[in-house]
Amino acid sequence: MRSESRQSSVGLTSVIGADPARIIEAIREVLPSPAVLPLHEPIISGREWEYVRECLDTGWVSSVGTFVDRFERMLAERCAVQRAVVMVNGTAALQVALQVAGVEAGDEVLVPSLTFVATANAVSYCEATPHFVDVEASTFGVDAATLSSYLAANTEQKAGRSYNVKTGRRISAVIPVHVFGTPVDMEALLDLAKKFGLAVVEDATEALGSTYKKRPCGSLAALGVLSFNGNKIVTTGGGGALLTNDTTIADRARHLTTTAKLPHPWAYRHDAVGYNYRLPNLNAALGCAQLERLDELVAAKRELAERYRAAFRNVPGCRIFEAPSFTKPNCWLVPLLLDYPDRAMLEQFLQAAHAAGILARPAWEPLHHLQSYRDCPAMPLPITENLVERIICLPSGPALAGVK
Ligand SMILES: *Cc1c(COP(=O)(O)O)cnc(C)c1O
Repeated sequence: MRSESRQSSVGLTSVIGADPARIIEAIREVLPSPAVLPLHEPIISGREWEYVRECLDTGWVSSVGTFVDRFERMLAERCAVQRAVVMVNGTAALQVALQVAGVEAGDEVLVPSLTFVATANAVSYCEATPHFVDVEASTFGVDAATLSSYLAANTEQKAGRSYNVKTGRRISAVIPVHVFGTPVDMEALLDLAKKFGLAVVEDATEALGSTYKKRPCGSLAALGVLSFNGNKIVTTGGGGALLTNDTTIADRARHLTTTAKLPHPWAYRHDAVGYNYRLPNLNAALGCAQLERLDELVAAKRELAERYRAAFRNVPGCRIFEAPSFTKPNCWLVPLLLDYPDRAMLEQFLQAAHAAGILARPAWEPLHHLQSYRDCPAMPLPITENLVERIICLPSGPALAGVK
């Protein structure tokens, strides 16, 4: 990737920029019919009505109920972990995951700048500080190689823990994010985490159904987090889950998210400042119905990605992103990648696309640009800066992918 961007700046005259009109044409070739093409909308055509009706008929609508337990079991099985603990949303699950991983107030947590703001917000809720790290262009995920040399030069080790030499703060964890459902190269990252004494919390909120070297995303580190927000591949309206093989940690997370109440038939006794973060049964009922169709959704999305790939084969100046062969992404969102960064063209395209009802989106504003996070520590972020001016997320919802 680095050699590629060097090439494009050297041979500038030979580089052909992408043309917004040609991109729109290619999208319409794949998706000719609907007038408006949303980025990602849920599909409610399985057993959702049946399960939600069961909640309503029985009165089990709140945070205790059979669908909560069933959804947790289904998730654990699907993601090949011992336990899943469901919560009100993915951000809450990230926060609790960091807490049970041992992140404390005053720590720093390594977070990619190329992610949704929730990843960094979860760190802030722990009264810790995000420390932004760069990504690889081949996966959009944390680059273990550059991070390793950065940490070697900028931290000191004491009793198996890493401290930022500039701020003096402990760096206690790293959050790899499987951006748009593309798995991070986790093996290298787990090695690095071991070397520097970091806890690893996998932000798999976009990656339910993705695999890395045949293993499900969310199960690759000690702790993984999923989201079931309305725009994710499986939705509960709003919801999230923590995944782990450590039953003690799962019990702790469950306890913390149910106000840390000690079990007793009538007494209200709590042994910590807990949270009211448990997922209601109504939402879990939706989740069970949605999760039953995950294989179908993933297959349809992979197929949509292939149709986009074919349509863009002859469109100059851009290509459909291709994940490395050791991964199988869920293709939650299909990214189109411009050959070189071009913010003006990107803006022009988004204007034209939205005017035409094609609700494509750019990548997020990198977090180190946001007012709340601009003063946080950060390593050099050249790949992030490059990618945010090249990424276009194409309409990728299940209905557009042909799911009925
Ligand atoms: C959706 C998302 C979250 C948060 O999930 P919510 O359920 O919306 O709170 C966190 N990180 C990333 C990368 C996400 O896409």
